Order: sequence, then C-alpha cells, then structure tokens
Amino acid sequence: MPVYFIQSNSIQNDRIVLTGDLAHHLSAVLRCRAGEIIHLADEDRVRYQTELAQVAENRIVAKILRRERPEFRRTPAILLAQAVLKGDKMDWAIQKAGELGVSTIIPVVTERTIARPNSERARRQRERWQTIAKEAAQQCGRSDFSDVAPVVPLDVLFKNPPEASLKIVPWEQEEGRSLKAALHNLNEEKSIAVLIGPEGGFSSREIEKARDSGWVSVSLGPRILRAETAGMAVLAILDYELYSGGN
Ligand code: SAM
Repeated sequence: MPVYFIQSNSIQNDRIVLTGDLAHHLSAVLRCRAGEIIHLADEDRVRYQTELAQVAENRIVAKILRRERPEFRRTPAILLAQAVLKGDKMDWAIQKAGELGVSTIIPVVTERTIARPNSERARRQRERWQTIAKEAAQQCGRSDFSDVAPVVPLDVLFKNPPEASLKIVPWEQEEGRSLKAALHNLNEEKSIAVLIGPEGGFSSREIEKARDSGWVSVSLGPRILRAETAGMAVLAILDYELYSGGN
C-alpha cells in the first residue's frame, strides 16, 4: 500500500490539505475519489490513515482517521556510497536502495567514474535522485525514505568517513576476506556503510586509501558483478541477515 509524503505544516486539526504535484497525482493520475482511503507520512515519519473528503484537481482535503506513531528507525542504519554510474543505471541503483531500506545514499565521484557531473548538473541530478528515492519509498510503503547526499569526490569521503561501525568496500580483486567473514559481528553493528565502485572499478590506490580510512575490502565471489548488481546484492544480503525480510 503506497504511502505518500507530506509536510506536517499541511495538517490543520483533523484535516490534511494536499496541493501541488501530490494533489494532481492523486486526482488526475490515480483518479482518486472522495471516500477513498489513502496513507500519508510526514517528515517526522508519523503515518496518517486518511479518508478523502474533498477532491479537486489541485487541492484535496483528507480527513485523518488514524495517526500512527513513527515506526522505529531501522537499526543498524545502512548507508550506500555509490560511485556515480552512467545513464539510468544510477537511477536504478537509487531506486533499489530505497526499496531495500537504505537510510542514506552518497553519490561518489572516483578516478574511473565515467559520468562526471559539473556542480550545477550534480545539484539537479541530486534533486532528481531524491525524487526517485521518495517515489521508491512511497511505492513500497516505507514511512521514511533514503536521503540522497550531495555528490562527493572519493577522497573527500575518505577524509570525512560516514559514522559507521562497519564500513565495507566490495573489491573484485580481494582474495582474503569474504563478505560473510566481514559480517561476523553484524548484530553488534550500530550502522553499516557500503562503498561500491563505478563501471571500471576502483584503482589499487583507491583501495589502499579506503583501507587506510577504515574500510574493509571484501570479495563477493568469483564473478565480476555489474556495479548496480553488486550494490543490490550486498543490500539484499544485509536486509536478509538483519531483518530476514521482516521490516
Ligand atoms: N573492475 C571490474 C571489471 O574489470 O569489470 C569492474 C568493477 S565492477 C563492474 C563495479 C564494482 O562492483 C566494483 O568496484 C566492486 O565494488 C563491485 N564488485 C563487482 N564484482 C565484485 C566481486 N566479485 N567482489 C567484490 N566486489 C565486486
């Protein structure tokens, strides 16, 4: 059941007034009618079960039937640092990360990143990726959504590592440590960061710097996975191990 995101300032007593894109989407695209039940969530992740009271093209009034306190934020939080991929592969990677419950996505520019956005383009891309992350959360019924951070160069990420008790960097040339071995303490972890390279992979210099910054390099097995596949494989494994698909 989709959950649509609103701002809490659109709540007036027991009514929520929807305008703009959401009102248009519900009235003109989904052709919702008065009396229908829709689920909303605000920026505090409070969820609202509502009944549509008035439906017009650009303005909808929804009556609150039930407020649900925010679900606990998933712990450990999972962060995906993804090298910017070409074309719609990055859109796909962000959408799947959103469905798999990632809390934060950091787009990263590495030595071999093919798509190197300039600052203006990076700003617009980030807005688009944030919309994709919200839509993915709405579609799968999450009451929160992945935050997409500004695009950063890999060296900046290494200098300002994310708050994570476990930072893993899958590297296809890693021979000594499997992902399974790196996750041996998983239930003690407070937050986990996953760093996935670009189509051309990481350079040895980058892997060395990653290790120096506390990232643990792991192998995902003998097959070379596409970057977008590698990220989703790791996130699905974490989802299974931590939540056995239960949340
Ligand atoms: N260097 C690879 C090649 O020659 O085709 C390309 C890198 S791969 C397409 C993109 C990213 O996926 C890598 O940087 C790594 O993070 C991850 N990856 C893919 N296969 C992997 C594996 N078997 N073990 C660990 N990481 C892998």
